[in-house]
Amino acid sequence: MAVNLYDRAARRSALDLAERLRHLSDTEKDLIRLANEPGYTRWREQIRATGGCAHPVYLSGHATTADPSTGLVVGHYDTAGEPGGRLAVRCRNRRTSVCAPCSREHSGDTFHLVRAGLLGGKGTPTRVVEHPRLFVTLTAPSFGAVHRAGPERCRPRRDGGECEHGRPGDCGKVHADGDRLIGQPLCRECYDYPAHALWHAHAGELWNRTCRAIRRHLATAAGIGQAALNEHLRVSFAKVVEYQRRGAVHVHAVIRLDGPDGPDTPPPSWADAGLLTDTVRAAAAAVRVPMPYTAALGEYVFRWGEQIDVHPIRAFGDGSAITDEAVAAYVAKYVSKSLGDSGGLDRRVTSAAAIDLAAVSPHLRALMGTCWRLGGLPELAYLRLRAWAHALGYRGHCLTKSRLYSTTYGALRAARSRFRTGGQEDSGVGLVTDSSWRYVGSGHTPGAAEIAAGIAEDLAVLREITRLHASAWGGGPDG
Ligand SMILES: [Zn+2]
Ligand SMILES: [Zn+2]
Ligand SMILES: [Zn+2]
Repeated sequence: MAVNLYDRAARRSALDLAERLRHLSDTEKDLIRLANEPGYTRWREQIRATGGCAHPVYLSGHATTADPSTGLVVGHYDTAGEPGGRLAVRCRNRRTSVCAPCSREHSGDTFHLVRAGLLGGKGTPTRVVEHPRLFVTLTAPSFGAVHRAGPERCRPRRDGGECEHGRPGDCGKVHADGDRLIGQPLCRECYDYPAHALWHAHAGELWNRTCRAIRRHLATAAGIGQAALNEHLRVSFAKVVEYQRRGAVHVHAVIRLDGPDGPDTPPPSWADAGLLTDTVRAAAAAVRVPMPYTAALGEYVFRWGEQIDVHPIRAFGDGSAITDEAVAAYVAKYVSKSLGDSGGLDRRVTSAAAIDLAAVSPHLRALMGTCWRLGGLPELAYLRLRAWAHALGYRGHCLTKSRLYSTTYGALRAARSRFRTGGQEDSGVGLVTDSSWRYVGSGHTPGAAEIAAGIAEDLAVLREITRLHASAWGGGPDG
């Protein structure tokens, strides 16, 4: 009898299981499939090595390292031995909204890159701490009154009167931080959208001219010819852009003075932080970029906004707010942000209809629409406003730096890759690596995405523990 009972119980639990399996989500089914694949453990290791990248790229190929003097092969790697014959590598996207783990790594690299230029390290001499260094913020001018964040009452227009479209110039509300009105124009008909879009299209040139003007002003201050300036000093910089709520970019830059041979040499004693501060202020205030006359738009002359912030950077730990570490962390933060995070779009738009349908604020849609419209004018084709409509007309990289500032992203990645592989990927002195790689796919299945996210989370926790441990023992942030 008892046997029968067991049979019945076993049958019921088998039915239960079958029933439960029928109700599994696609992700759960995929997780079970993955865990039963022969190379599962090795595949997990690969994903862990990518830091839990959300959109890994799969490569197939091989690399052989040999010593040409002896002809001996010292290392060989082939994806033939990997699960599915392929190897996962990071997507390396810098945006948090696209891939949080890669964005975090990129942001860490930016921190080290900017920090190295301030404090030395990663190939830059530590003596740069003694060189004049400034943290500079340049803004866009006003293109029309916009709602402003609190704590003060929002009074964008000084006179407070109505505009010609009958809209009040004095909002009078106190906008809390999350208020969607902040940055939106009081009157979209009054707002100068063409000037805003075109200013963005010229912001890169405005920066280039500012750098040249700084050098020119320094030469004048020292009473030497511009051509001879390099015999006395070098100006190095790293800069990032940040989109404000009104959809205009801010430029944040670290500017450093070095001697004639770059960071290894001291700048002349007359070139101190005070002179550099005055020089940057004067150059930023004076620089202009004219846009040639067009029949449709007339003439424009672009300049920076009134708000120009210039602060000397102090060495870490002297008690002031603007320290090396704070600046590096600040700059790194902006690199991981994208226009998408400020309510805009991260991808290019390919039609005016796509702009109409974009899930952005009416203000940003109007800006993108203006870029699209102006981009269709043959005389403005060189500004490529349609290709950069999603970026509100601003073309350019998020982070740019001068050659002598500090190390590069490439060098940081190479160093990390050597560290992770215990030196195997480094050909070493006199060794030659012959490799061949082929793209075979990208992205995760639903189950794989779950696993990768879990790995990324574990690594984030581990990093936090390491950081707390390091700070408790006097280490710097992020090691
Ligand atoms: Zn990634
Ligand atoms: Zn307001
Ligand atoms: Zn108006």
